[in-house]
Amino acid sequence: MNMIFQEGHSMCLYSVAAVLTGLMTVLILVKKMKSKVKILKPSYDFDESTDPEILIVGGGVLGCTLATVLGRDGRKVTVLERDMKEPDRIVGELLQPGGFNALKELGLADCCEGLDAHVTKGYMVHDIETKRSVHVPYPQDKDGNILCGRAFHHGRFIMNLRKAAQAEPKVTFVEGTAITMIEDNGTVTGMKFKRKDADQMEELHAPLTVIADGCFSKFRKHLVNETVRVPSQFVGVLMKDCPQAKANHAEIALADKNLALIYQISSKCTRILVDVRGPKPTNMKEHMKENVAPYLPEHVQPAFLEEVETGRMRVMPNSFLPAAPLEKPGVMVLGDALNMRHPLTGGGMSVVFNDVLLWRDLFKSLPNTKDYSAILSALRTFNRERKQHHSFVVNVLAQALYQLFSATSEDENVHAMKLACFEFFCLGEEWVRRPVELLSILNPKPHLLIGYFFLVAFYSFFHIFKKNPWWALHRSVYKSVMVLFKSCHIMFPLVWSELNTLIFS
Ligand SMILES: Cc1cc2nc3c(=O)[nH]c(=O)nc-3n(C[C@H](O)[C@H](O)[C@H](O)COP(=O)(O)OP(=O)(O)OC[C@H]3O[C@@H](n4cnc5c(N)ncnc54)[C@H](O)[C@@H]3O)c2cc1C
Repeated sequence: MNMIFQEGHSMCLYSVAAVLTGLMTVLILVKKMKSKVKILKPSYDFDESTDPEILIVGGGVLGCTLATVLGRDGRKVTVLERDMKEPDRIVGELLQPGGFNALKELGLADCCEGLDAHVTKGYMVHDIETKRSVHVPYPQDKDGNILCGRAFHHGRFIMNLRKAAQAEPKVTFVEGTAITMIEDNGTVTGMKFKRKDADQMEELHAPLTVIADGCFSKFRKHLVNETVRVPSQFVGVLMKDCPQAKANHAEIALADKNLALIYQISSKCTRILVDVRGPKPTNMKEHMKENVAPYLPEHVQPAFLEEVETGRMRVMPNSFLPAAPLEKPGVMVLGDALNMRHPLTGGGMSVVFNDVLLWRDLFKSLPNTKDYSAILSALRTFNRERKQHHSFVVNVLAQALYQLFSATSEDENVHAMKLACFEFFCLGEEWVRRPVELLSILNPKPHLLIGYFFLVAFYSFFHIFKKNPWWALHRSVYKSVMVLFKSCHIMFPLVWSELNTLIFS
């Protein structure tokens, strides 16, 4: 029976793959038939002795990584960063194994050293309502070693990335805030900026400007076709000496009206990110004590309550921005400025490192950055390949999983899927291996993601039928149809948000 089910499920996955491949081919053909962007040579004469080949705006995760990689390949790069002090933020702390592998491939794995970083080996998922927990380990390599991720203090990691970039002789950092893009004949030729603590405007010129100014990007409105949606916020608290349910495992706490992500980031500190939907509570402290703490795993509650009472609570928007770049000669937008997804799955930095991996190869085939048509063509290749390579899965999984995990019992159909998802995790490692390969970005295949999402939907039918008596068969059928309808309602717009940009952007 199990074998028939497994075979049927493989057939289903292959059909999804075939349909997706066909669809992608049609989309790419349509895209190819579209007219090209008009490129007019700028009148500005770049001075190779002073101007860099590439100007990167933003010395964060993407800016530093790209600068190091391009610098090592012999490119002259300038990074414009508004603040070179160690950042103090609640973002970018958990690096998935797939992101860590990409960092290794980029030759930057040592940036995770000397941070008192924590090695992560998987997740413990807690269903607070039923007081059950399930172990979801990361996959293993051929020799049986767990493919681990890393968790660290974001600021310390950024300082290591900056150090690596600054060690490259061809990379220069300028501490200043980018103000406006300089355009010449419709081509971007550089950036006006103000140095830190200075009022006077200065200019930096380069044939190619990379905008990597992060989630609150000031420049994306001119360069991308989509608007940012914010379904919720994460409230971050840093707890001291908080015990773990299982050593070296991040934790997800699922309650009816609460969702929290917990992971240790150094030997003493553990981050908790609590998802808050709707308007920000007027008294955050009381909200955390009364509405959140009782729905956290018991071993976390004392450290959480202590920090809520005496520590700092930080709020960050959980944004969703599908990648929809506009083509403009002389400029490209990358990182969070281009594409964001809910941070529940901790995929942002992994997307960045895998994007840089793609660009490292693409830049090797670009002899000079003044060849605007070659750059635009590389940009199209990048936007297509990143979807197949990693970004489709990270983006769609993060949004879909968030919609499931944040479902309350008021939305009974999605809630049924949330419960089925937990039960699916309980089926054991054999069943969760593939989904965890998607989550950890070790094998991010779009058809597997769609196939497993609907497998969970079908698995929820089984639970619906099991729960209802035989005489209420009509009710079970109706509920199952509604769950299927809801799952399509979640998945198809997300798939479309990834595919439509191949045609329309
Ligand atoms: C709440 C939250 C939690 C997250 N947790 C995780 C996680 O655990 N794991 C994970 O992988 N991802 C996580 N992410 C996502 C991750 O942080 C981002 O994907 C990643 O930091 C993007 O890198 P970036 O270089 O595009 O932006 P950033 O790293 O934010 O860098 C942008 C840089 O640009 C600079 N800058 C901005 N404006 C200007 C200007 N005008 N001039 C000059 N410089 C400028 C900034 O100072 C900054 O240094 C999280 C996101 C959120 C919101």
